[in-house]
Amino acid sequence: MKQVNTVLDQFGTTIFTTMSALALEHNAINLGQGFPDQDGPDFIKDAACDAIRQQPNQYPPMAGTTHLRQAVGDHNKRFYGLDSDWQTGVLVTSGATEAIAGALLGLINPGDEVVVIEPVFDCYIPMILRAGGIVRTVRLIPPHWTLSRQALEEAFSERTKLILLNSPQNPAARVYNADELALIAEMVLRYDTYAVCDEVYEHIVFDELEHIPLMSLPGMAERCVRIGSAGKTFSMTGWKVGYINAPPKLHDALCKAHQFLTFTTPPMLQHAVAEGLRLDDDYFRQLSLTQQKKRDILTTGLRRAGFDVLNSQGTYFLCADIRPTGFDGDDVAFCQHITRHAGVTALPLSAFYDLREAASDKKPPPPSHFIRFCFCKKDAVLEEAYEKLIDYFKP
Ligand code: PMP
Repeated sequence: MKQVNTVLDQFGTTIFTTMSALALEHNAINLGQGFPDQDGPDFIKDAACDAIRQQPNQYPPMAGTTHLRQAVGDHNKRFYGLDSDWQTGVLVTSGATEAIAGALLGLINPGDEVVVIEPVFDCYIPMILRAGGIVRTVRLIPPHWTLSRQALEEAFSERTKLILLNSPQNPAARVYNADELALIAEMVLRYDTYAVCDEVYEHIVFDELEHIPLMSLPGMAERCVRIGSAGKTFSMTGWKVGYINAPPKLHDALCKAHQFLTFTTPPMLQHAVAEGLRLDDDYFRQLSLTQQKKRDILTTGLRRAGFDVLNSQGTYFLCADIRPTGFDGDDVAFCQHITRHAGVTALPLSAFYDLREAASDKKPPPPSHFIRFCFCKKDAVLEEAYEKLIDYFKP
């Protein structure tokens, strides 16, 4: 029989699914997959319930409800000083995942090159390839995750169509600073490319660091697609409501992709998310502070268990070096081992590198002794998890 899909066949089941299944089998605390175990504000849930009862439940407008598009525009102005016309510059999607897929389908022509920074969020590479693009990676290596001019210059060329940038970055937990962003902007301008900016963790940033959208840099407003997610900003990852800001030309291209993908997004959720985006600054500050406290709880506990823990600047995640635990094996074996024997699940960082490249000898193998833990869980769950690891490694 014919091969079903020559692009997607090269990717197996995602590491999230594999490790979550193993966690379930061994009744382990799952700090692998990234979702909070407490929902966001009741006020937003109530707004969705009210909207179901009191507002139409039919197809909303293709680009999103007026209410939410205006709220997205106001949010961008309030936090970043970005001027986005809600009619020609804001689009609502069914999750950031759809926004990323739509941006890639809408902006890539077959054969275009796309730059991504490794370690890379799992859907990027399959989606670039499915859209007909060619992947060029810039590799960051822990513990310093340095983004060098040289690596960017090696990845960008006249063939580059866009860079797909994620800041704050999952899984490296890096928040790109003004200098790094200026370097990226320089490449974007030099090679006349676009940038698709996945900023779903824009409001989960620690230690007084500032999240700077690439779009806010000089010359970038005409070239960037900025993507946010209500799932992360309101701790409702199941809702799958995303939003895009883009200049009119890119907005048009994205609307074309979106109308053939999902066409629209449930109206009651759009209504509730619009209410959420109008919350005062304190809500957004508390979101970062709450997650920062959780980061600190897990960091302290993992250090007691013997891990070298890297500083997490933002997101739901932190990375840890497994070598000080004395384990004899790589990150994949380690994650399986602690799931089975310590009752805690994490994810191997090597899974976030382009393994096709590693297999083809084009680049050295990715780092194999770092793992990613998710900390957006109840404090008691984090405490139980690190106590289990301490019991196992430091009995
Ligand atoms: N981008 C990144 C970097 C993410 O971590 C996630 C969720 N894990 C998404 C996009 C997807 O967001 P959504 O649930 O809104 O589709």
